[in-house]
Amino acid sequence: MYKKILCAVDVKSEDESTIEKAFSMAEQYNAKLFIVHVIEYTFLPKDYQKKLKEEVLPKIKELSERYGILKKNRFVKFGQSYAEICALEEKHNIDLIVIGSHGKHGIKALLGSTANAVLQQANCDVMLVKLNKV
Ligand code: AMP
Repeated sequence: MYKKILCAVDVKSEDESTIEKAFSMAEQYNAKLFIVHVIEYTFLPKDYQKKLKEEVLPKIKELSERYGILKKNRFVKFGQSYAEICALEEKHNIDLIVIGSHGKHGIKALLGSTANAVLQQANCDVMLVKLNKV
């Protein structure tokens, strides 16, 4: 039984298969749904960080409203995707992470690098959603 499900979405490059799966798992288990997008930069001037964040916020908001994700459970983070995803897992006691099998880092590989790193680092279950190669 899952209580808190985190969906990791690269809003810049992928379709909605991952969030759809996370949503259906959340419905099935009556779990709270969380969403995260990571902007993979760290050392940037504050105003540029703000600009990058503002670019992705409308998409996160739109997805969250469509899939009923509360404001407090929506996250846009800066850093390495897998590290930020696993940090959220720990902080919010997530018990299932739903992630795509590959994204822009894994187009040629069977398993993307974020997916692979999350699988290795996470303390909770990880559900891999098989995405079509683009
Ligand atoms: P990758 O390992 O980059 O090929 O991506 C595999 C999966 O990791 C994607 O389908 C997403 O679920 C997740 N992911 C990749 N990049 C990000 C990101 N920047 N923010 C959130 N999740 C991501």
